[in-house]
Amino acid sequence: MSRIIYLNGSYVNENDAKVSVFDHGFLYGDGVFEGIRAYAGRVFKLDEHLQRLYESAKSIMLSIPESYGKMKEAILETIRRNELRDAYIRVVVSRGAGDLGLDPNKCPKPTTVIIASSIALYPPELYEKGMPVITVPTRRNAPDALDAQIKSLNYLNNILAKIEANRAGVMESVMLNAQGYVTEATGDNIFIVKNGTVITPPAYLGALNGITRQVILEEAKNAGYPVEERPFTRHELYVADECFLTGTAAEIIPIISVDGRQIGNGKPGAITVDLIGRYRALTGTTGEPVYPEQ
Ligand code: PMP
Repeated sequence: MSRIIYLNGSYVNENDAKVSVFDHGFLYGDGVFEGIRAYAGRVFKLDEHLQRLYESAKSIMLSIPESYGKMKEAILETIRRNELRDAYIRVVVSRGAGDLGLDPNKCPKPTTVIIASSIALYPPELYEKGMPVITVPTRRNAPDALDAQIKSLNYLNNILAKIEANRAGVMESVMLNAQGYVTEATGDNIFIVKNGTVITPPAYLGALNGITRQVILEEAKNAGYPVEERPFTRHELYVADECFLTGTAAEIIPIISVDGRQIGNGKPGAITVDLIGRYRALTGTTGEPVYPEQ
C-alpha cells in the first residue's frame, strides 16, 4: 500500500510527496525533526514530542508554519489516513527552499512533512538476548557547538559513530564527549545499573534529553530503584552490573558487552527486564487516542 504523506498542509501519495532540491534541509541539514510512536491506536507522549519539536525550532530560529494544535491534528490525521494503529511517525520541518548560500533569510517558507510508517531498528531476538556495543573515536558534538537538545537534521556526528560501529561488526556505538564522559548512543540514551542504582549521564554532557529516558527515570523511581543522573566514564560502563539503551524507535534494548567487556553475566539484567516490562505496559495503555474511542 502506498503511504499518504502530509506535505505543507496537503495529504499526498508518497510518490507525489516531493521537496525542492533547493530546500536547505537537503542542502545543509537545516531543519528539525521528531520521531514518535503510536501503539494500539494511541500516540505515546505526543505532547512531549511536540514540545521538543517547537523548542528545537525556536532554538534555530525556525518558525514552524503549523500551529501546535494544527500540527497535533495533522499527525493524528496522517496516522488515520494510513489506517495505522501501530506506527512510527516522523515529523520533519526544514528551512525550506532558498538559494545556494547558507543564509536562512533567503528561505521564505519552511517545509513540513509528516510520515506515518513503521520502524525496526534491531532484530527482535536482541531484545531477549541483549546486544554488544563499542565506544567509538567520534566524539559527541560539544554543546557549545551544536547542543544535543536541538533535534536537528544534522546527524552526521552520529552517522560517523554508526559507521564506526558497523565497521567493527556491531549494531550500535556509545559516544563519549570531548572530556571522555559517556554521553549516549547514536540515536538512543544510555543507562547503567550498579548495585541496584539506575544511572544515566546528565543531558548537559552532550546527550539528548530523550523522552524515553524521562519515562525510564520516572518508572525506575516508581519501582523504588535509586536513580542518579551523573557523569561516568568508560570504566564505570565496563564494570556496570547492567546496561541498556532507550529511545522512541529502539524502546529499551539490553546491552551485554561494551568494547569486549561482558556486562554482568552477559544476559539482560533483572532491573533492565523489569523496566522493559513497565515501559511496554505504559506504551500499550496511555497516550493520545488516534481514533474515536469505542
Ligand atoms: N539520542 C539521540 C541522539 C536521538 O536521536 C534520540 C531519538 N531518536 C534519542 C537519544 C532518544 O530520544 P527519545 O527517547 O526522545 O526518542
